[in-house]
Amino acid sequence: VAAPLLFLAFGVEYNRRSGLLSRFDWRWLAPVSLAVLGLIWTDGAHHLFRVEPALAQGSLFTHLRFTDGPLFGVFTVYAYTLIVVTTLLILVHYLIANHLYRLQIGVLLVGILIPWGTSVVTALGWLPLRLHDATPLTFGLSNLVMAWALFRYHLFDLVPVARDLLIDSLQSGVIVLNDKACIMDVNPAGERILGMSLTQCVGKPLFEALPIPAEWFKLAAQSSPLIQDFKLYPAGQETSYEIQISSLQTASGTVIGQVVALSDISDRIRVQEKLRHLAITDDLTGLFNRRYFSLLANQELERALRYRHNLSIILLDIDYFKLVNDTHGHLVGDQVLNQLAQECFLGLRAFDISARFGGEEFIIALPETDLDAASQTAERLRARAEKLRVDTDQGEIQITISLGVASLSQSPGQTLNQLIDCADQALYQAKNSGRN
Ligand code: GH3
Ligand code: MG
Ligand code: MG
Repeated sequence: VAAPLLFLAFGVEYNRRSGLLSRFDWRWLAPVSLAVLGLIWTDGAHHLFRVEPALAQGSLFTHLRFTDGPLFGVFTVYAYTLIVVTTLLILVHYLIANHLYRLQIGVLLVGILIPWGTSVVTALGWLPLRLHDATPLTFGLSNLVMAWALFRYHLFDLVPVARDLLIDSLQSGVIVLNDKACIMDVNPAGERILGMSLTQCVGKPLFEALPIPAEWFKLAAQSSPLIQDFKLYPAGQETSYEIQISSLQTASGTVIGQVVALSDISDRIRVQEKLRHLAITDDLTGLFNRRYFSLLANQELERALRYRHNLSIILLDIDYFKLVNDTHGHLVGDQVLNQLAQECFLGLRAFDISARFGGEEFIIALPETDLDAASQTAERLRARAEKLRVDTDQGEIQITISLGVASLSQSPGQTLNQLIDCADQALYQAKNSGRN
């Protein structure tokens, strides 16, 4: 009496997460089953279930046989209706479920179909042993199969709610791989990243779909999770991703697969690059700032000292710049600084490092350049500054610059500051001997 109702209860609860019958409560049917139970217990008084008891001789043993009473048929219809409904529920669940859970639902279906099969066989009179009633045996077998399905695949049993609600709506792409790194499951965001639908990519090795270095998976298997940044070019547009590879392990530590999560971090990278740019450049002239100059120039100095190569420094200061400010105002002064930076430093080599040193002073580090060559460069800059015409609201402005040049002397232990000091002294001499 309880079995069909509990069977329905199982089917309904199992389907809860799929959204089927979310409002149906199987407990509503409990009174019906209890009433049937009451009627069976009191059958001696009314014989609605069993009538005409008689002894029957089977092949194995003799048993008591009854003829079915009027309510027995009604109960049979009720019980089979519940069983049919449950079977259909699980069948529909199988059809709409994600392939990952189909294995579990499939095994459940096999379990459910065992009693059905036996019923058909019995009805057709094919029962091999002339058993009195095969129902307990087949239900027992069926329950074993169903229990196996539930416990064997309980790993996936926990996931569906999370998967459907969370994984599918995640902005990040999530890709589930088996132990051969073949794609087993992908969420919608993952489909967009791969440029393939779930059905297209299931079973494919991930390496065919994404250019992820194979050693990352080996590393992830050793220490999970592995987090890396990497770039993809879907539709030719560079997109930065953070990839997280986590191993799926059994309790005994066997790796049974991996989960790859991909988050688009392009915005973050863009902001980081912008911040980095702001941190290393001077915003008025767009040249490097003093701090970044020191960093780069120190690297060049170290290299030059180690390999005994040349390195020169040019320090540059605008002549009578106070006068420009005083006559035309600070904004015009800024315009002059900007234009000097744009036009004067253009002819330098790509590996020369030019920066705004502060105020209206500029500095250039020239790797692989001796004092003679650096002096020639300084002279070129001087001539170019002299020719510069800065167009302002207040008319054309002309300036001159003075420069100091210093070169590495190859004596060990020289520092960048010493070199800059030398250039500064040279600049001071230039200022004192008539500027320009
Ligand atoms: P000298 O030929 O001796 O170099 O004379 P100078 O007037 O250029 O003297 P100095 O180099 O000491 O003057 C620096 C002036 O540059 C002081 C300040 O008003 C101006 N200055 C510094 N930074 C800026 C800036 O960012 N914008 C503008 N407009 N002026 C600046
Ligand atoms: Mg100055
Ligand atoms: Mg000056």
